[in-house]
Amino acid sequence: MPAQVRDSLLQEFATHAALAEAPATYRRSVITAPRQVVFEDVPTPAPGPSQVLVRIAAAALCTWEQRVYAGIDNWSYPLVGGHESSGEVVAVGSGVAQPLSAGDQVAIAGLRRCGECWACRRGYDNICDNQHATTREPGKPWGPGGFAEYVLVDGYQVYRCPRKVHAFQAALAEPLACVLHDVKRFTPRRGDTAVIVGAGIMGLLHLAVLRSTGAVILVSEPDPVRRAKALEMGAHAVIDPSAQDYVETVKQLTGGRGASATYMAIGAPTAIEQAVQASAKRGIVSVYASVHPRGSQIQLDPNLFHHKELVLSGSLAQDHEDFLDAVWSISHQTIDLQPLISAAFPLLELEAAFAAAAQPDTYRVFVTPDALV
Ligand SMILES: [Zn+2]
Ligand SMILES: [Zn+2]
Repeated sequence: MPAQVRDSLLQEFATHAALAEAPATYRRSVITAPRQVVFEDVPTPAPGPSQVLVRIAAAALCTWEQRVYAGIDNWSYPLVGGHESSGEVVAVGSGVAQPLSAGDQVAIAGLRRCGECWACRRGYDNICDNQHATTREPGKPWGPGGFAEYVLVDGYQVYRCPRKVHAFQAALAEPLACVLHDVKRFTPRRGDTAVIVGAGIMGLLHLAVLRSTGAVILVSEPDPVRRAKALEMGAHAVIDPSAQDYVETVKQLTGGRGASATYMAIGAPTAIEQAVQASAKRGIVSVYASVHPRGSQIQLDPNLFHHKELVLSGSLAQDHEDFLDAVWSISHQTIDLQPLISAAFPLLELEAAFAAAAQPDTYRVFVTPDALV
């Protein structure tokens, strides 16, 4: 028997053998309207060509799902949320190129990338033209699918992660990859001052990543608990923008120069204007968080850009290389994500998890089909 035929038969056999261990149906959550979650049992799919069936171990509640649940972002119902997830490989379809076996732990990149559009071919697969087109049928539940017991994904979406890594940490590969994307695009030099505006999870992840750059790190955050957390995680100084003049304080703390890199981890138009005003010569301001309501405007004197050669840019999601970097960093423990893990709920208590995630003193909240802690 030719090796190729034998291998494909073996792979087919492996797929069916592993699938036999999966139940005929599995449970998933669907956000159907603002503050409405229903659970439904659907047939467990067998992976088609290039697909992998993963049994979810943990999925985190990101700001996007929180906005959809709260009704702030309302274009996506009915949604099976959960784009920050990890789990165990159950079955591997034919033609999956990477070596995967049933039982492997994987981090899942929720983002779809077509590989064929102009953006993908340029290497900007984080802003692929076809991110949503491939998965959405009108009226039918769609989405990344981590808030469920199982998920069917494409082979390129899974990244093997050593067993020693806790499932929660593996699930955080996704947000970490997003932050790595931002900091890799706009890396401060040693001794530069970097400012993080907002000390929610994304701001604090920026802090964890920026610590290895040798930059002096300032964090601006009105909430005292979050400011304390930022100091605990290694910020050199914090600013309370509700009590201090942001621009003046950044200038004072930088000997009058201003900030060389500012990462906007909250979506506030005024804060973006202030960040540009507080920038050093050749400074960069990156709009990391989306701004709501959509269509908000900012006002800036264009001469600021002319005289100081400033750059105002942004950062969206992560490309596949960022994801690889994130999984590597987590697997080799070069970054400590433990302070950002706040709570976990069983999948069926997704609504309680949303309530917990909305509190200012929680960072990442997880749901787990197995009530993992
Ligand atoms: Zn996310
Ligand atoms: Zn594409």
